[in-house]
Formats: sequence, structure tokens, C-alpha cells
Amino acid sequence: MAILHLPTLHPKHTLTASQDTNSPLAGQTALVTGASRGIGKAIALALAAGGAKVACVASRVENAQGAAEACSELTSGAMAFGVNVAETAAVADLVKTISKEMGGPNILVNNAGITRDQILMRMTEDDFDSVVGVNLKGTWNFIKAATRPLMKNSGRIINISSVVAVMGNAGQANYAASKAGVLGMTRSVAKELASRNVCVNAIAPGFIDTDMTAALDDSSREALVGSIPLQRMGNVDDIAQTVAFLAGPAGGYITGQTLVIDGGLSL
Ligand code: NAP
Repeated sequence: MAILHLPTLHPKHTLTASQDTNSPLAGQTALVTGASRGIGKAIALALAAGGAKVACVASRVENAQGAAEACSELTSGAMAFGVNVAETAAVADLVKTISKEMGGPNILVNNAGITRDQILMRMTEDDFDSVVGVNLKGTWNFIKAATRPLMKNSGRIINISSVVAVMGNAGQANYAASKAGVLGMTRSVAKELASRNVCVNAIAPGFIDTDMTAALDDSSREALVGSIPLQRMGNVDDIAQTVAFLAGPAGGYITGQTLVIDGGLSL
């Protein structure tokens, strides 16, 4: 497990966000997986803007470095970490390290995810196992490793699922199954941890403009946008702002829910 330490105080700031009592997440530590780019990076930045310290996790520490540097412009503590979220023991070690170095975590965002799309007839066992390993087991790994500190801190867990968990999608039996599993896990863990005041929710994004959807050719993209009632793909901030809401004071009585953010695609 590689860890990168970054300066905790940006020289431009004399008063950091987390010292400002108006910052809703001041004094909290957020752990965001898949924070190197796309939706995860936007989530890390939104939580940093709210005053949280942010542990930015990607598959390799150097991949998360840019996000941690960007967060450290906004808040008083940001660090980059690298781990394969599918590896249970490595995740347990990483969470212990983050607790020691940064406190908490008070907020856990399980966002790391992959696709290996293929029609069922051609999908290999490895296509299935790798997607379920990262998307579903990776989520379980972090929840299990962070449950104790989250219970101590009346924490929040936010899991990033997908609208295809609800709708299904040809060529994504592995991905849809993994993301539907995340929704079942979210509801179950919400029930288990409610008595400890931990709120557990999921977000199911529709089609969001990131590296994951960049492979779509122009005609598929056009057809896709045509099927979205709001007539556009989502952007990463559409998701990140909802995560910040669920992590903040306004989210304190919401648990076990799935917020579908898809421009109306699933209507
Ligand atoms: P992305 O741009 O492809 O980024 C994926 C992130 O996950 C990267 O930070 C990547 O880290 C990390 N990651 C992948 N495998 C990992 C592993 N084994 N261990 C640790 N980190 C790993 O994806 P995105 O579009 O932002 O999607 C983020 C989440 O939203 C995913 O869970 C995705 O399924 C979900 N989602 C996306 C869309 C969409 O339209 N984009 C729609 C619905 C749901 P590295 O940089 O180190 O590889």
C-alpha cells in the first residue's frame, strides 16, 4: 500500500475551511474511493469545499495525487492513497492508516467502479468476477473496515450505484448485478447501523460525462441523449453536490434510500 503525504495547509489560505465554523463538514474526515478522476474527484472536491479533510483513494497512489492536491487548495487536510479496493486485507490496513493519519473517517464514499461490457454469451468468468470484485466486494470491503470509526462518529456512508441496477442494460449483466448488489447492501447496512446513528444511502447516476462513458461514439451518444427527458448527459457535479448534501447536516434523517440522478432516464 503506497501513501503520499501532501502539505496540509495551502499557503494562500490564512483561515482554512475546516477552521471556519460555517463550513458544514468542518472537523470531519471523508474517505472517497475512485477519487482520481470523474465523479470521484468531483465528490472529493465538493467535500473539501464543505470543509472536510479528504482521503483520496485510487488504484495507485500517484493516480490520486492530483485530486488530493486540488482538495488541499480548499481544505486543511488532503492525502492521496493507493489500494485495489477488491483486496480485503489491503483495504483494512488502508482504513487503519487513514484513521491514524487523518482521524475518522466520518464520511465514506464508495465510488470506485469499473465496467467490462459484453453480451452474456461472450462474457467471461473474469469479466464477471473483476466487475463484481471491484464494484460490489470493494464496497463491502470499505464498509466493513470503516464501520467501527463510522459508528463512533455517527457517520455517513454513500455508495455510488447506477441507474442500470434498476433498469438493466444489454451487455452489462455483470455491472448491473454488481450495482444492484450495492443497493441491497445499502439497505441492509442502513438497517444494521441505524441504532448507531450512521446513515447509509446510495446514489444511482444515469449517464454522466466521464472517462467511463467517453467510449460512446457520436451516434450512440446522440441516441442516448435523445432518450433522456432532460436532453443532456449528467455532469460530475450533478452527483457530487448530492453526495455533499447527504454527507452534511441536511442528510441526517435520510437512510436506506437510493437517489436516482439520471435526468429522468428511468421514468
Ligand atoms: P472513471 O472515470 O472510470 O473512474 C473510475 C475510478 O475508480 C478511478 O478513480 C479509478 O482509479 C477507480 N478504480 C477503478 N478500479 C479500481 C480498483 N480496483 N481499486 C481502486 N480504485 C479503482 O469512472 P466514473 O465515470 O467517474 O464513475 C465513478 C462511479 O460512478 C463508478 O462506480 C461508476 O460505476 C459509477 N457510475 C458512473 C456512471 C457514468 O455515466 N459515468 C453512471 C452510473 C454510475 P484509477 O484512476 O487508479 O484507475
